[in-house]
Amino acid sequence: MASLLLTGARVIDPSQNLDRTADLLVTNGKVAAIGPEATSKAVPDTERIDVSGLVVAPGLIDLHVHLREPGKSAKETIATGTAAAARGGFTSIVCMPNTSPPIENAGTVALIREKAAREGKVNVFVTGAISRNIAGEELAPIGSLKQAGIVAITDDGHCVQNNELMRRALEYARMFDLLVMDHCQDYALVSDGVMHEGYWSATLGLRGWPSAGEEMIVARNILLAETTGARVHCQHLSAAGSVDLIRAARKRGVPISGEACPHHFTLTDSAIAGSDIFWRADGKGVFGFNDMEQRPAWPNYDTNFKMNPPLRSARDREAILEGVVDGTIEVLCSDHAPHCDYEKEVEFDYAPFGITGLETELPLSLMQLYHTRRMSLPDVLARFTTGPANLLKLAKGTLQIGADADITVIAPDREWIFQRAESASKSKNTPFHGWTMKGKAVITVVAGRVVWSEQNELAAV
Ligand SMILES: [Zn+2]
Repeated sequence: MASLLLTGARVIDPSQNLDRTADLLVTNGKVAAIGPEATSKAVPDTERIDVSGLVVAPGLIDLHVHLREPGKSAKETIATGTAAAARGGFTSIVCMPNTSPPIENAGTVALIREKAAREGKVNVFVTGAISRNIAGEELAPIGSLKQAGIVAITDDGHCVQNNELMRRALEYARMFDLLVMDHCQDYALVSDGVMHEGYWSATLGLRGWPSAGEEMIVARNILLAETTGARVHCQHLSAAGSVDLIRAARKRGVPISGEACPHHFTLTDSAIAGSDIFWRADGKGVFGFNDMEQRPAWPNYDTNFKMNPPLRSARDREAILEGVVDGTIEVLCSDHAPHCDYEKEVEFDYAPFGITGLETELPLSLMQLYHTRRMSLPDVLARFTTGPANLLKLAKGTLQIGADADITVIAPDREWIFQRAESASKSKNTPFHGWTMKGKAVITVVAGRVVWSEQNELAAV
């Protein structure tokens, strides 16, 4: 297998507190050396890429992705979803089980793992359902799912309402040392809400979805994690109250964690009233858009701003950012949720929840957390590497000698405009079309092989 030498970059690896200018050598798909010995150990036919001025980081991990295969391949496939991941700088993704059929038995797990190994551009880790058919009524066969190679269980897209069933799921998960990831939504409180319950839902005449609809289940999960000792991870946090609950619980040692998605810490519910109102009301909280001319425009009731959980108030947006900064939230992810245009091009009430995110999550996170000087670059990268790797106990997210050579090369200060048509995802349901981004992945390496690079893509055009 060919060797690869990346020269002159700022190498940042949060797993070993590494942050210095160095060369990095890859041989046989593994990290072989960092520093002066990288050059001296390189054999003559080594491929050399000059990455000076750029950042070399462990390959980024996204633990919340909907690949839609099997069953919904009009929206996305393993091939297109992993291509979007590679383009966004992600070398490992974790796919959610709400496919059709759902991932609730060992056969489906095997099917996805085989297909991902064949057609995937990046590593795909699989989650299994908590309940059969994700119906919340009886447990899925958690032991055999674990044996088939899942890394966590979740009913994402749905939420187990029966607290006793959830307790038993946690007890099993603890036995198998599996992480339980939960989409926190109290069905009775949320009912048929379509956007955050507040001033804008009342003004726009859309049914409200109260923050308590999330906080109630976060509180439930904390109590059950405490009761059972199982590790519970609350997915895509949107509400300030959820962050407060998790912060307090972690202080007293409860095995609870949370994740945040860029849309929840960039946008707010006023975006559903249209871009004019959003920029006027809450635009100050977005990095880089002081200039009127630069501000992207969109209409009111744009369904690309409809997701589950919904965009919330500016106060919630700030609380999510604070939670990421102080370490209450250790993981950043996309909740990449592709839908076809024809599904989204309907009235707001009828459109499915969800947006794509694999190609915009790194720049938006850099903008809101690093370029605003709230966090250092290594700390932001830790939320995409050691954060998810530790939670899922994956031997990923590190540049230790001997580790898989999964590497992301990043231009943190690069300004570019995101165009939905250029996305590798099969679906284009993004609210960030036309946005000027700051920061970009430019080379993605999986097991020592360049699976995507900006330069190669430009050369191919
Ligand atoms: Zn979800």
